[in-house]
Amino acid sequence: MKFGKAKARWVYGFGVGHADGNAGMKDLLGGKGANLAEMSNLGLPVPPGFTLSTEVCAHYYANDHAYPDGLLAEVKKALRRVEKIAGAKFGDPKNPLLLSVRSGGRASMPGMMDTVLNIGLNDATAERLAELSGDKRFAYDTYRRFLQMYGNVVLGVPHHLFEEILELYKEEHGHTLDTDLSAEDWVAVTGAFQRKIEETLDAPFPQDPHAQVWGAIGAVFASWMNPRATIYRRLHDIPEDWGTAVNVQAMVFGNMGEDCATGVAFTRNPATGGKEFYGEFLINAQGEDVVAGIRTPQPLAKRAQDMAGGDKRPSLEEAMPDVFAQLLAIRTELESHYRDMQDIEFTVQKKKLWMLQTRNGKRTIHAALKIAVDMSEEGLITHEEAIRRIDPAALDQLLHPTLDPETPQEVLATGLPASPGAASGAIVFTAAEAGIEAGRGKDVILVRVETSPEDIQGMHAAVGILTTRGGLTSHAAVVARGMGRPCVSGAGEIRLDEAAGEMRIRGRLFKRGDVITIDGANGRVLAGQVPMRRPELSGDFVTLMRWADGIRRLGVRANAETPQDAATARRFGAEGIGLCRTEHMFFDTGRILAVREMILAKDAEARRKALAKLRPMQRDDFAEIFRIMAGLPVTIRLLDPPLHEFLPKTGPEIEELAKSIGAEAVDVKARAEQLREVNPMLGHRGCRLGITYPEIYEMQAQAIFEAATLVAKETGAAIVPEIMIPLVATKEEFDFLKAVVDKVADGIAAASGVRITYRVGTMIELPRAALLAGQIARSAEFFSFGTNDLTQTTFGISRDDAGGFLKSYLDKGLLRKDPFATLDVEGVGELIRIAAERGRAARGNLHLGICGEHGGDPASVAFCERIGLDYVSCSPYRVPIARLAAAHAALKAS
Ligand code: PEP
Ligand code: MG
Repeated sequence: MKFGKAKARWVYGFGVGHADGNAGMKDLLGGKGANLAEMSNLGLPVPPGFTLSTEVCAHYYANDHAYPDGLLAEVKKALRRVEKIAGAKFGDPKNPLLLSVRSGGRASMPGMMDTVLNIGLNDATAERLAELSGDKRFAYDTYRRFLQMYGNVVLGVPHHLFEEILELYKEEHGHTLDTDLSAEDWVAVTGAFQRKIEETLDAPFPQDPHAQVWGAIGAVFASWMNPRATIYRRLHDIPEDWGTAVNVQAMVFGNMGEDCATGVAFTRNPATGGKEFYGEFLINAQGEDVVAGIRTPQPLAKRAQDMAGGDKRPSLEEAMPDVFAQLLAIRTELESHYRDMQDIEFTVQKKKLWMLQTRNGKRTIHAALKIAVDMSEEGLITHEEAIRRIDPAALDQLLHPTLDPETPQEVLATGLPASPGAASGAIVFTAAEAGIEAGRGKDVILVRVETSPEDIQGMHAAVGILTTRGGLTSHAAVVARGMGRPCVSGAGEIRLDEAAGEMRIRGRLFKRGDVITIDGANGRVLAGQVPMRRPELSGDFVTLMRWADGIRRLGVRANAETPQDAATARRFGAEGIGLCRTEHMFFDTGRILAVREMILAKDAEARRKALAKLRPMQRDDFAEIFRIMAGLPVTIRLLDPPLHEFLPKTGPEIEELAKSIGAEAVDVKARAEQLREVNPMLGHRGCRLGITYPEIYEMQAQAIFEAATLVAKETGAAIVPEIMIPLVATKEEFDFLKAVVDKVADGIAAASGVRITYRVGTMIELPRAALLAGQIARSAEFFSFGTNDLTQTTFGISRDDAGGFLKSYLDKGLLRKDPFATLDVEGVGELIRIAAERGRAARGNLHLGICGEHGGDPASVAFCERIGLDYVSCSPYRVPIARLAAAHAALKAS
């Protein structure tokens, strides 16, 4: 038997000891409404009110801004209840009730939507409020605030028209401050405000309180779609169809005299996480005065007031000891009830405390860690909950220096947030200069159009990297993240003239040696030196990471090629190296010449001669890494990039073109630079190098086995190198190169008498390889998904040139996320899933990992958990993020 749908309900009451809703009903009542209901259920003093649910909002937008049937009657009923509790009547000229109307969606969107206070005031009730409060000035100040707010928010009268009237009035009457105005002055101003509204709209200000309240409700629903809110939602991934709820509540006044106050508080310190009651208040003030910073608020607790020093005003503890004691009790009750740090708002009207809001408080990552660990140790939450409460991406702030938020900042240009952290230094335009200046002990920022492997040393020498071209997986971005150097990429407004040693940003000239600051967390380029805060890995961080490690299933390795990176990776908890890009070792000043000799060699014999010079150097590199990793797995990738990257470049002159079109050469050059696209890395690279020049891979394999033999002898530990072939498309390619490696292994075993155990595997970074994984896995012992290239080859988007147009895709909503930063689960992910499945069907113990940039992205790590990969590998500085993200993913899966 089917029952009809229960009668729809649109309105939920709350306040003083009873509520129709509770904290679990955020989807329906919004965060604010659900928590007001919850506090009412707890018996806390909440001014009575009611919530129009988010379903009303959905109906409003689905039906051309019409309200559902029955809403009017429900609002009437709920209002009667509020009137009964408040002992006053809405619109009653003798005993008026005033209301506030506030927005409140599921997710907090601070300041994005509208609010209207003091609804119900008109010429009659304002006069009565003056009598009842015994304070005419208060009544008319409140009335003019209402006219201003309602006039602007609901009626659309520009804010400045009110401001102009007020300024003119003050000027004519010799007043400087608002507080200089008397009751009679405010009466005059309210009259002028009403005349202005009538003149602007050709209709009088609505004196009917019921018309006012419905006007305000409509304005709040409409504000869900205002441009501010729309942009905020897009930035914070808040779906449009969630809608907002509207809370209608009896007004309470913190500005009715010296026995009134208003304030905000956090149940713990939101900056440090310390267990202290942290808050501020103002006597005789409205909520907006505290937040707006017009008057400096005073601390709540006496101790904090004493510590602030100099401030002679009393703390709340001294001024209103009963209220303070009541607040302290509420603090404890709310924390143990919500089991999280709360951010509360309160008002004291004539010595009576009213709670206006509670919500989980925003906090710094330092505070978040401390609070999670402390609450877990206090028994309030489990380890699992503590882990869930830390956003893995937020750990980034801990691992890099950040700009001091207290210092004013002058933003020169904005690019992409390519590698987190902030750095200040003198501008240099070439890698060589970076090396020289850094050698002299100078902090330098390397500014390039884009970087290439040739710049590695300069990048390492620099404290930060800034490029005018390139996206989030451009060479600069990948390498900078790997090194833990802050990087801003693709700052297209910067015009670089390397030859002249200068750059221009919006016409402003910067020369070599000028100091700038970059913030890789938000892509900003700032003028001059900005003070920094140093990272600190506190005990709470270590504790929480230990709990996370106990829960995760996925292994976490690092992408590292220098001993320094390997050491950092271990310090951050990496369990091995998932990708050692050997080409980076070729750029050392001592060996680039031999590399170039090898590339320019006319035949295989000459090439072998040059390679013989490189072999001992590579052997020493590998030996050092094996030593640092002390028996942990190390995956070494044989040479991958096209050889032209190792050769010097000469910039072509465009002088002639410039002349013929009558433009400045620098501008043409800059524009050409900006438009130039690089080969999207589909040429003579990866295993194709090994196939045409097997002696290169032979040399690298030799160096690997020699190093492994050396370190195994030295330490007694078994070293099991994992040798990885890049950019394989066919099983035949892989077999050909595996034979090269095997032959070298046999030769070395015969010569040294020691047989090294090793594995040969491949990167999966071409769609063909993913689809034919079943075939390839018959030969390959492991796969590592190179998702940078796999994304590039699946989308057909060159990863180095994507920066220019991907932003338009994101702005227009055609892509939700940059696929080079967060794995495209639908497309690229599907290829990975197919490859994992087909590979494992062919070889049951096939080891599977991912080593593209996605290995350190929490959402992508979650995908890796879902499809059962064995490990993720990412930049050393992202290892803690991946560890925590893997724990989150495991908790979700369990
Ligand atoms: C990849 O393609 O994902 C990868 C890890 O290799 P690289 O970034 O060096 O091309
Ligand atoms: Mg690759």
